[in-house]
Amino acid sequence: MAGIVIIGAGHGGVQLAASLRDQGFGGQITLISNEADWPYHKPPLSKSYMQTQEAPLQALRGARFFDDKQINLRLGAAVSSIDRAAQTVTFADGATLGYDTLVLATGTTARRLAVPGADLAGVFHLRTAEDARAMRSALGGVRRVAVIGGGFIGLEAAAMLAARGLSVEVLETAPRLLGRAVSRAVADAVGEYLVRQGVKIHCSSAVSQLVGQKQVNTVQLEDGQKIAADMVVVGIGAVPEITLAQAAGLDCDNGIVTNSLLATSDRAIYALGDCVAYPQAQLGRMARLESVQNATDQARALARTLTGTPTPYDTLPWFWSDIGTLKLQIAGLSHDADEAITVHRDDGTLQSVWCLAKGRLVAVETLNSPGEHMLARRLIADGLTLDRAVMASGDMMRLKAAYSVAR
Ligand SMILES: Cc1cc2nc3c(=O)[nH]c(=O)nc-3n(C[C@H](O)[C@H](O)[C@H](O)COP(=O)(O)OP(=O)(O)OC[C@H]3O[C@@H](n4cnc5c(N)ncnc54)[C@H](O)[C@@H]3O)c2cc1C
Repeated sequence: MAGIVIIGAGHGGVQLAASLRDQGFGGQITLISNEADWPYHKPPLSKSYMQTQEAPLQALRGARFFDDKQINLRLGAAVSSIDRAAQTVTFADGATLGYDTLVLATGTTARRLAVPGADLAGVFHLRTAEDARAMRSALGGVRRVAVIGGGFIGLEAAAMLAARGLSVEVLETAPRLLGRAVSRAVADAVGEYLVRQGVKIHCSSAVSQLVGQKQVNTVQLEDGQKIAADMVVVGIGAVPEITLAQAAGLDCDNGIVTNSLLATSDRAIYALGDCVAYPQAQLGRMARLESVQNATDQARALARTLTGTPTPYDTLPWFWSDIGTLKLQIAGLSHDADEAITVHRDDGTLQSVWCLAKGRLVAVETLNSPGEHMLARRLIADGLTLDRAVMASGDMMRLKAAYSVAR
């Protein structure tokens, strides 16, 4: 038996291999990564890893884990094609490997900046350990950093670099930060926090080109403004890594299309994590999510399916981002929200935003309020919406009391 072959040893791929063994799968498992690094946590790359020059990568599993679990981990091995008829994958060096079941856990790649000068030295995209290492080792001597993109990764990096004493300016094309991800109130609170850390923020500012001889020294904006920068960090989103799937003729549409069991259009091939567009239970339509929770919970569900208990993936999504000392947590999905209840602390700082769609609680965004986040996850998963005055109070005692009555 050729066993289960997993392409991608990121958060989802590693969790799947581990969960398959937890579920009692005794067959062969091959876990393939095109990265040379031991499988590592990605979120710290834009956070603690940038805090000091010495911060190590954080391993997803310990040194003996894969041997102990008899998982055949192949690092630095890029799969270049899939032969569906023969049920084999071919590596970049021409070697082939057979599979009974193939799982694509290929994640995303950083969206590249497409303006003149984007290939100058000093311009960094941040997706992999290799990217982060290159960026961190170039920091010596850097004084001014321009961060292109006001999404999570850009803002996390901006906070870290400002904390290291660098002059940081964030350039965002949209009229506000975190446009696709959170409510206006949370985006504004994050922006105000960053300004207090010394970060300059320019919204509605599209970059027209990067300027320099070999090394970048200026970011030119479409309105003619020039921002001096000896390092540029690009954080303009990610694109699903579907090259293999597309070439193999699998259905793809903003990701590898699967059903709720994470099965692709080929019976022997499944997919999970950032690269997957699946029927999202809470939204009631196809969606592709990018988060550690989504990748690891999909892996757990798929492990059950592959060991004989078909398990549709319907876990409530949640997400976190650490921007400096600001812990932003999101329970649920606010895509369809048409009402927002904002909660402020006595000192005027924003504590949370409760998002409703047609009167039903669909998401809660919290800032440094982890207890409220945990409760919100339970409320939304249970399909409960509390009285508006209770939600607006942000008071944990009242919220907990109302939850125990409602459930
Ligand atoms: C800097 C940064 C900060 C982040 N912060 C957060 C956060 O705070 N909270 C959060 O929830 N999420 C965060 N994320 C997102 C999170 O890391 C992803 O959602 C998660 O890694 C998705 O897991 P995955 O297994 O789908 O893909 P990945 O973890 O990206 O793993 C995919 C792997 O597949 C490999 N691969 C692709 N193609 C091939 C091939 N042909 N052959 C072999 N290997 C291949 C890739 O190189 C990669 O190693 C962050 C991401 C980054 C980059």
